[in-house]
Amino acid sequence: MRLNPIAEKISDNDDVIRASMSEAMPPPLLAAVAQLTGDLSVLRSDLVFDQTKLLEPNAGYTDEQLAHARALAADALIRFRDSGATAAPAPDHATLVQLIEFATGGPVPEGFLPLLEEELALDGQDLRAPKWNRAALAPDRRFVVGIIGAGMSGLIMAHRLRQAGVEFVIFDKNADVGGTWFENVYPGCRVDIPNHFYSYACAQTADWPQFYSTQPVLHEYFASFADQFGLRPNIRCDTEVMDCVWSDDDQTWSVRTRACGQDSAGQDSPGQESTITVHALVSAVGQLNRPKMPDIVGIDTFVGPAFHSAYWDHSIDFAGQRVAVVGTGASAAQFIPIVAEQAESLTVFQRTPPWLLPVPNYQDDVPHGNRWLLRHLPAYMRWDRMWIMSRTNTGLLPLATVDPDWVPNDRSVSAANDFLREMLTMYYQVMFPDPELFVKVLPTYPPIAKRVVLDGGTLPLALNRSDVHLTIESITSIDATGINTADGVHHDADIIIYGTGFEATNFLTPMNIVGAQGTDLHERWGGDARAYLGITVPEFPNLFMMYGPNTNIVINGSIIYFSECEAHYIAESVHMLLANNHAAMNCRDDVHDQYNEYIDAGNSSMAWGVSDVNSWYKNEFGRVAQNWPYSLHEYWQQTRSPNPNDYELT
Ligand code: NAP
Repeated sequence: MRLNPIAEKISDNDDVIRASMSEAMPPPLLAAVAQLTGDLSVLRSDLVFDQTKLLEPNAGYTDEQLAHARALAADALIRFRDSGATAAPAPDHATLVQLIEFATGGPVPEGFLPLLEEELALDGQDLRAPKWNRAALAPDRRFVVGIIGAGMSGLIMAHRLRQAGVEFVIFDKNADVGGTWFENVYPGCRVDIPNHFYSYACAQTADWPQFYSTQPVLHEYFASFADQFGLRPNIRCDTEVMDCVWSDDDQTWSVRTRACGQDSAGQDSPGQESTITVHALVSAVGQLNRPKMPDIVGIDTFVGPAFHSAYWDHSIDFAGQRVAVVGTGASAAQFIPIVAEQAESLTVFQRTPPWLLPVPNYQDDVPHGNRWLLRHLPAYMRWDRMWIMSRTNTGLLPLATVDPDWVPNDRSVSAANDFLREMLTMYYQVMFPDPELFVKVLPTYPPIAKRVVLDGGTLPLALNRSDVHLTIESITSIDATGINTADGVHHDADIIIYGTGFEATNFLTPMNIVGAQGTDLHERWGGDARAYLGITVPEFPNLFMMYGPNTNIVINGSIIYFSECEAHYIAESVHMLLANNHAAMNCRDDVHDQYNEYIDAGNSSMAWGVSDVNSWYKNEFGRVAQNWPYSLHEYWQQTRSPNPNDYELT
């Protein structure tokens, strides 16, 4: 996959150009055309994106508006081709604001422009690259950063450190990079944030085959990133981090690793342990990397094949088999339709039905015309990303915000949330015509109180099949031949698949992390993980987390955006240490505690904070330890640079 490709010259005939506009949406199309050609007249006021029509078909554009916008774009591109195809100079400030306001459908909020410029990365400019270099800053000081995990967080961290000239090493327990996109290879696995936005701003590609690409494509993207940014030599695959211990004397972290396969460097044999000393440690292991098996009586007595979705057994042929699936979360929703097509019969055990959010293009290929635009208009991929981002920044957040004047109930948390419930219920009525099934699948809690599952129509189709049975009775036990439920029924099964999620609450497990004065991280947390900005924890100097506590987003944005913010903050923290000749930074308790109050207050006004429905967003104490409740912009603002006053500096 080519990252940041050079655009191809426009030399096609008029018909090809006009045909290539046929599926494009006006905001990114006209912004990209205006920027390329310098013809700002295409930014017609009647074609500005209207954010209030976000959820309407075609984002509220009428057929006439779409046709008009596409004709304007084609005419401008034909004139551009005929006049020599010389790109207009880079937009000045006023033009940039005009373009952004057109594409995002409103005035740029105060302080928002620098973020949007970073996200746009026009002309491939990486505005998030550190503006300092270790060689100039601290030429005589050796400073090594250890990164745990080569998934999407660890890779961008490594890239930022590389840009700043800081030495680093990445450990990953897997045989290759990609993290969750390496591990989850179950059939149907795909991203559910549009991949043109679920990607690094500094590494865009025209090669996404679909709007929501499948796991192999996502893995290829991250592997390409590691290759094209030269990160591979610093990555030690098949290397699991066991313990990390801080030395108060040396002000360093000692990292003990164990080879769990053939090390990529070819040096370690399985089981071999090594210890390395680093000056700062970044945990980039994420929240969803340790599969969770359910605690069900007799689970080990089942005689047939049984596996978790993250450990998919591809050797199994489902033909002629009675398959049982436990769980109906985002993973199960993706593999159930595929297993249903192959198995003799399928029984799905549902504990809590998810809210399905219809996404008509969820499984669609990027149309030919859009691919042409991505290849020929240098900025189309960037404006497309901008448009997606503007729709998701606050996007659906208001729909999940609790209205304090709304009478609390199980249906909804506000009038807007109730409206969403009604819209989604209409979808359920269409997709589940059988009244018995409809009652089983319709959630009885407010939308967005737990993870919403994107649906291109395949899950309802599967659940409607006559050879698929949905059971809502609770599971009481598992025996050699199947699953028993509370109604006394034994469900015979040849194969059991667990789509039962991950140990999201148990951040950084099973690693043993010991900080200043021998403090154990897991003992400090006691099952209630907290951090400042999701990144630093008092008593753990120079330990930084990515996708740590309260950095998950529910309905707005992309988690990659958060990783980018975290990588920036951590790189700037290294800068603070080097520039001031500090050995270590330790988050102050009062700063940490005050921040967590602010986070808890935010989450307590969101649907997922007030509802008591089961969800992995809450820990055993019922506290939302996973989610960030505010806007994307706010997290960006808070992670611009470390405030020295927030830390004890050694
Ligand atoms: P999940 O959302 O935690 O779902 C686990 C499912 O298993 C739930 O239906 C849960 O029921 C059920 N379950 C757990 N223990 C059970 C038990 N003892 N008995 C019966 N049912 C049980 O896990 P996931 O589907 O793997 O998804 C985890 C997260 O990964 C997602 O929320 C998402 O953030 C991410 N993900 C993303 C994508 C994507 O981008 N497309 C795909 C997959 C996953 P309850 O609901 O009652 O707890």
